[in-house]
Amino acid sequence: MVPELPEVETTVRGLARFLDGERIARVAVNRPDLRRAFPVELAQTLTGATVTGLGRRAKYGLIHTDRLATLVFHLGMSGRWRIDPESLGKHDHLVLETAAGHLLALCDPRRFGSVDLVDTARLEEWPPFAALGPEPLGPELSPEYLKRAFEGRVAAIKLLLLDQRIVAGLGNIYVCEALFRARIDPRKAAGRASLPALRRLVPAIRAVLTESIEAGGSSLRDYAQPSGQLGYFAYNFDAYDREGEPCSCGGTVRRIVQGGRSTWFCPRCQR
Ligand SMILES: [Zn+2]
Repeated sequence: MVPELPEVETTVRGLARFLDGERIARVAVNRPDLRRAFPVELAQTLTGATVTGLGRRAKYGLIHTDRLATLVFHLGMSGRWRIDPESLGKHDHLVLETAAGHLLALCDPRRFGSVDLVDTARLEEWPPFAALGPEPLGPELSPEYLKRAFEGRVAAIKLLLLDQRIVAGLGNIYVCEALFRARIDPRKAAGRASLPALRRLVPAIRAVLTESIEAGGSSLRDYAQPSGQLGYFAYNFDAYDREGEPCSCGGTVRRIVQGGRSTWFCPRCQR
């Protein structure tokens, strides 16, 4: 499963235990690139730097340093951070060693991930961030905001919720789940979604994300173990991948394809 926002959030929280306030003593860059080249100054900038905080924007993890630079990572399709691995493997492309002696290895077998160094003061202007909409867990996302963003739009509400310019970091699973909980037909023209429906949708988006983050957090104890891996956990969804299964309303979950991707929904209760 591709890492989604909750996996990135859980990864950042796990990394913070080992990095926040810590000095990076050594940096190993073991290949020139992932999806794109590692910054040439990566090792030089990070070696000896102190981590001043961690964060997340959309599906990017942020590691802020006292060098006025932020390491921005994306896990791509298969990336994960390994904490204190028993041994390093050929897919551990970037390895940070803290002054306290912890090894943090960014492992990415398929190499669809990325690592960048961005001027901390200008993060919001960095091209991948510049056009992003509000965070789904932040205060800017409100029913009124969505009403304005959807105004006059005839595209299906499901597709617009996946548009990162409208809401940042929402992936296919969470959009399906949130629409299912809010009882909104994923095929509905976004501009026709009523304010009461959007008042169900916003808390549903927050709830599905928060529940997944908490499910990931409950596996946080694994982080302290050798070969502990951050970023992936099992979570049961109500609609996702449940084609043909009964809905609590008495209907049956259906799968359709929208924009080339599967949508699971209940045609009986999602209107
Ligand atoms: Zn139903």
